[in-house]
Amino acid sequence: MNTIVMKFGGTSVAGTKKLKNIAKIVKSELENSKIIVVVSAMAGETNKLQNYLDEFQCQNSIESDLVLTSGEQVTIGLLSAALKNLGIKSIPLLGWQIPIITDESYEKAKILQINKKRIKEYFSNNDVIVLAGFQGINLDGKITSLGRGGSDTTAVAIASAIEAERCDIYTDVEGVFTTDPNIEINAKKIPKLSYEEMLEMSSTGAKVLHTRSVELAMKNNLTLQVLSSLTKKTGTFILNEKELIEKEIVSGVSYSNNEAKVTISGILDKPGISAKIFGLMTENNINVDMIVQNISQDGVSANITFTINQKDHDLTKSVIERSKNILNYKSLLLDKKVAKISVIGMGMMSQVGVAEKMFKTLAKNAINILAISTSEIKISVLIDEVHTNIAVKSLHEVYNL
Ligand code: ADP
Ligand code: ASP
Ligand code: MG
Repeated sequence: MNTIVMKFGGTSVAGTKKLKNIAKIVKSELENSKIIVVVSAMAGETNKLQNYLDEFQCQNSIESDLVLTSGEQVTIGLLSAALKNLGIKSIPLLGWQIPIITDESYEKAKILQINKKRIKEYFSNNDVIVLAGFQGINLDGKITSLGRGGSDTTAVAIASAIEAERCDIYTDVEGVFTTDPNIEINAKKIPKLSYEEMLEMSSTGAKVLHTRSVELAMKNNLTLQVLSSLTKKTGTFILNEKELIEKEIVSGVSYSNNEAKVTISGILDKPGISAKIFGLMTENNINVDMIVQNISQDGVSANITFTINQKDHDLTKSVIERSKNILNYKSLLLDKKVAKISVIGMGMMSQVGVAEKMFKTLAKNAINILAISTSEIKISVLIDEVHTNIAVKSLHEVYNL
């Protein structure tokens, strides 16, 4: 059986007119294939649900995931109705009806297993399955969500499980660009990107693809196409590095305003102190990204700075404050007004001077660097949030993107 997976994001499904248009796009692909359409909630809906939950300080729980995943129920029902109006045999399904089995962790569940046999059964009477993205069910029978933006991951997971012929991610831009086209009008669509580059772009803030979806595509060697639901143009292919003829030194610039900086000053400069701090972070499931340690002049005390996700700000503060006696520090400072800017490119592995160019460009714009981290194909810097736009634009220009 030829199967195609098509995923439509929040902006693409926002409103009945758009859903009717998607039904037509799906119909045009039906001739030789069965189709699984994965959809998000309408744009803004999941944020609205998140706001309700915030009023009850409700997070990472049975309740929060039950509420957060409810927006998708509306879109699968409406899209399936639109398809039926076009004479197409379609069935709307929630994650648990497949089922998509996940682990226990609420709000960031990982998919463990997908029942292929049931998908085949659904296809015996239907040509299209309209599947709710971003959700699953754990072994305890509780609804879970895959983390914000997780519908991409549902699409890639299901496409990998059924060995789909194609996995197309339809969104509100024409593909993956050299930087966010909504902040830099000169950004260009990239025709092809390796999994590694896309992974770095997603994990440093380019929300066009959920990071986990890229990891899964890479693991299963599944080629993805990111394209617009509004135009019929070819989008960006995310694929195996071996299929790339030319490796750009810098393929893209990404940014994230979701960071918070934590500085612990006046800790003792002795073995084991970092292990204690980061052990506390691990115990509390707080992800740490960049780390900088400075030894002070007296050789006795040190300062440590690291970054976390902004949503972990309050938890981090209380965890460190509660451990003041153990860590024995002088002061603790948290700052949400920071941004991480990253440049990414496969060619960086064999080229020198990329970092120097980045630092020089930032200096020319009087932007101070607060922290640095690198990988083989990425350089990230932490800066003051107010400089985000100018940093992205000037780096985009200096690397000729
Ligand atoms: P969807 O609702 O379809 O899942 P998202 O809002 O999650 O869409 O992702 C698309 C958005 O990603 C774009 O509107 C764009 O602002 C943003 N984006 C950030 N970086 C990039 C990039 N490098 N290329 C394309 N889009 C990007
Ligand atoms: N509706 C969910 C969100 O807004 C999932 C998604 O759009 O991918 O995060
Ligand atoms: Mg998205």
